[in-house]
Amino acid sequence: MTQSDPLKALGLTDADLTGGMLAVRSPIDGAEIARVHETDAADMPGIIARAQAAFRTWRTTPGPRRGELVRLFGEELRASKGELGAIVTLEAGKITSEGLGEVQEMIDICDFAVGLSRQLYGLTIASERPGHRMAETWHPAGPVGVITAFNFPVAPWAWNAAIALACGDPVIWKPSEKTPLTAMACLKILGRALDRFGDAPDGLVQLAIGGPEIGEALVSSRDVPVISATGSTRMGEIVGPKVMARFGKPILELGGNNAMIVAPSADLDMAIRAIVFSAVGTAGQRCTSLRRLIVHKSIKDDLTAKLVAAYKTLPIGDPRKEGTLVGPLIDAAARDNMMKTLKDAASEGGRVHGGAAVTEGVPKGGAYVSPAIVEMPEQTDTVRTENFAPILYVMGYDTLDEAIAMHNDVPQGLSSCIFTLDVREAETFLSAAGSDCGIANVNIGPSGAEIGGAFGGEKATGGGRESGSDAWKGYMRRQTSTVNYSAELPLAQGVRFDI
Ligand code: NAD
Repeated sequence: MTQSDPLKALGLTDADLTGGMLAVRSPIDGAEIARVHETDAADMPGIIARAQAAFRTWRTTPGPRRGELVRLFGEELRASKGELGAIVTLEAGKITSEGLGEVQEMIDICDFAVGLSRQLYGLTIASERPGHRMAETWHPAGPVGVITAFNFPVAPWAWNAAIALACGDPVIWKPSEKTPLTAMACLKILGRALDRFGDAPDGLVQLAIGGPEIGEALVSSRDVPVISATGSTRMGEIVGPKVMARFGKPILELGGNNAMIVAPSADLDMAIRAIVFSAVGTAGQRCTSLRRLIVHKSIKDDLTAKLVAAYKTLPIGDPRKEGTLVGPLIDAAARDNMMKTLKDAASEGGRVHGGAAVTEGVPKGGAYVSPAIVEMPEQTDTVRTENFAPILYVMGYDTLDEAIAMHNDVPQGLSSCIFTLDVREAETFLSAAGSDCGIANVNIGPSGAEIGGAFGGEKATGGGRESGSDAWKGYMRRQTSTVNYSAELPLAQGVRFDI
């Protein structure tokens, strides 16, 4: 298959792929695969106005009918899973299975959102006044601006878009400037669903391609009431306050620094498989990648030796090749940053295993590395900082209290886990005095969440929730209504106001 095949198969034309100013490079070999046209910042007010116009129609389209569009989108995604997965691999460097898995996640959230479109439930509430009825109703919020990161170029957009569409909201998507092709391909697939649907308003889902300045136009517009932004904590620190300052609703999905506690009773074979997948999968470029291993001192040396041995067998290389488990980093800057971080860790007393640039047996021009394990004497500032590369820090502990304290002593709060067969330890980890993260698992690694749960994290991870559970409420506005069907006008709290 040539590199352009899946792009063409999904309907991207030469006009889409050439003639623009934004060069798109494949991390596989650094080759330029397209030059796409960026959205002109001057066009952003028009794009937002079109979304507002679409909102006026879509908000009164019945929920189940809105769900029908999402159902058709899910069908079209199923038909194009192979091609879209291949573009994820081409543009983000994920191994084939992970590229396909990301598209499967889109399909899963579509299924969820179709059901949700008939379940946008409110409440009835007991009124203290006779002859009164109180209710809580959820209404569509308005256009949703979705800003996404390079490392999950399609799934988080779908978590947002499928739910927002079911909830009655138009969507404006600003993908990462490193992965515009997957976004353009998604819009082609959605276009087929829209054609079959028939009467969706123009401008229901729009794409805005470019860097932070294009995102900024969404972030600062009062006509985009919800901004869902996925990316670094640094980005969230800029975007969050700007959205709040205009009383918009931010949904922030930012960086993680995810850990696993390995207790003495842990099933070590299972733990090792979970550690390797979550630390080196996607070349350590998942927000939920395992970055810190907090191991009971009685098993630390044994576990570390086994991990170092397992790391030596990892197939590193072309992510399209059958059997490859570790593909490239997104670019040379990410590799340089990883090497600098390893030096910093070593200067803080870390003992580094692996973590070298790989140039043999891999496509030329890509930034390939061997994943690193770093034994740390303590949790230093370097360990507390998210580095978006396959670096796993290993630290020892004596008591579970000490392990949980170390676990929580980082700025981020995304995902976490414990490997133990001791129910007291497991439940303590999940309790109010345990992990402070949005996701906490037992005998499962921190990455690879299912769409059914609410996804997101606390502290510097931003506090946003997307995907399953009741995350849909973030895309709607809540209205409390009281209806008086009596012939009296009693006031709440027994207040008298006789005239
Ligand atoms: P990034 O912050 O560099 O960019 C993310 C997106 O934000 C891009 O589309 C970018 O153009 C946009 N952006 C940046 N500055 C902006 C601004 N001032 N205004 C508006 N938009 C702006 O992140 P990245 O390098 O693409 O992705 C990696 C980071 O994303 C990691 O920190 C990772 O943990 C995080 N991430 C988090 C989640 C999650 O769900 N919590 C998921 C994926 C990635």
